[in-house]
Amino acid sequence: QKREMANEQIDGDNSGHFIRSQYQEKLALFDQEFMNGQSTSNLSMSSTVTQQTKTFEIETDKRIPKLGVMLVGLGGNNGATFVAGILANKLKMDWETKNGTMSANFFGSFTQSGTVHAGYKFNSKSNILEDVHLPVKDLLPMVDPCQFMISGWDISQANLYESCLRAKVLEPDLLKQLKGELESIKPLPAAFRGDFIASNQADRADNVINGTNIEIITKLREDIRLMKSQCDKVVVLWTANTEMYMLPEIDTMDKLHMMVSKNHELPASVLYCMAAIEERVLYLNGSPQNTFHKAIVEYARQKGSFIAGSDFKSGQTRYKTIMSDFLIGSGIRLSSVVSYNHLGNNDGKNLSEDKCFQSKKISKGGVLDDAIKSNKILYPEGKDKIDHDVIIRYIPFVGDSKRAIDEYSSQIFMNGINTIMSYNMCEDSLLAVPLMIDMVILGELFTRMRVNGEGLGPVLSYLSFFFKAPITNHSDYVINSYTRQRESLVNFLKVAAGLPLDSGTMMAFKY
Ligand code: NAD
Repeated sequence: QKREMANEQIDGDNSGHFIRSQYQEKLALFDQEFMNGQSTSNLSMSSTVTQQTKTFEIETDKRIPKLGVMLVGLGGNNGATFVAGILANKLKMDWETKNGTMSANFFGSFTQSGTVHAGYKFNSKSNILEDVHLPVKDLLPMVDPCQFMISGWDISQANLYESCLRAKVLEPDLLKQLKGELESIKPLPAAFRGDFIASNQADRADNVINGTNIEIITKLREDIRLMKSQCDKVVVLWTANTEMYMLPEIDTMDKLHMMVSKNHELPASVLYCMAAIEERVLYLNGSPQNTFHKAIVEYARQKGSFIAGSDFKSGQTRYKTIMSDFLIGSGIRLSSVVSYNHLGNNDGKNLSEDKCFQSKKISKGGVLDDAIKSNKILYPEGKDKIDHDVIIRYIPFVGDSKRAIDEYSSQIFMNGINTIMSYNMCEDSLLAVPLMIDMVILGELFTRMRVNGEGLGPVLSYLSFFFKAPITNHSDYVINSYTRQRESLVNFLKVAAGLPLDSGTMMAFKY
């Protein structure tokens, strides 16, 4: 099915406005009978594998829109830190701390502070090739985060200065300087379905829209339309409380529309997501709940809208998918992974109720599945499990400074046991906000791209790099590996920019 782009800006072809590139993908295609991952002593490659070549035309609209970013959970720790952090960068602020004067930066953001290996140049002095690295943000035309227009919803009516104080993430001297700007930002009244989040959140809810499902979706659509009228394009990002899973999943569009019209109790996230889909704006899900029911994905497809998620992969899980790349990639059998977290922010408070914790546990639980599948020597049938558990506790004293303690036990040569422990202490929101910036910037860029004449989506799975439980357009094919996620994202950006991919063989250095 051909998809229309959800971006009015690129209607009407004007070839000067596009970057066009062609990419020939070569895949090794094995016979269907080939036993995946099994060791084969006498592998006759020529009879079992052929090379499949496919050509892709990639088109990117160069015009950078004025972008409106609407956060669900604007007054939360992530929301408030997102607003204040971007403002501090925009105003190039400095502030005093006990460790000296600090300046605003975008460290931790892949697009703003990351680089990619783009190729080589010849160094005539040493007579050898040397590496060329390019900033990710220079590969293709991307929105500058300092130009975001930001608004959003929260069930708490606190203004953004009060929210920043409540979050206890940023330094007082910085907040004092931003006080006027932050006080002027107030969250819009929110869609609220208290049964789906922890009951301990009820005392925050003093800023909610009352009404039926249809009335709430209509109001959210009006909010999005108002934002649209002030800029070229809007992205909605859920960074509100983790909701409990909604089961059974909504599997058909008929059921979805029936539940909306008959005013069934639906999670707030489904209402926001439907409003975004109906307004054809990208909806990103930073929390673990199962907002993207089968019917929602289908609805996005039908409307030509875009979605991506779920659950920011910011700390412990990101590290886990790097550790498993390292261990299993080295031929070591990772056999148990035990993760303890404690945190004292409002997210931790919400997760202290079991129904919300279960969503987090599910989201954190599947991250090793593709690593296990990748190696049948270490994980043959019947022995294809890693003992993996995740424990989360709410400890108010530590605030947003989350502690993550992980133990990785592996079987090594001759059944020796190798145990590695890691201890990570960090302000959770300072890890999450750069990812939020990246997914907005890259997500917006992907809505300006076409492959072989079709828009990407409805699921923007190249954003998987930023999510713990990525959803894709092919639900059976999900990559969690940090290395593979990064490689596919970087390679896609590179080919769209017209750069040849690195073969990585280093053959150029042979002579
Ligand atoms: P938070 O509790 O500080 O912020 C959530 C905000 O959402 C609160 O201000 C709350 O009032 C608001 N809210 C609740 N329901 C709402 C609704 N229906 N509509 C609008 N606003 C609503 O939490 P946080 O630390 O900012 O984290 C936000 C989310 O991101 C959580 O679900 C968390 O699990 C997820 N997450 C965070 C990280 C990270 O911070 N590193 C990583 C992965 C996932």
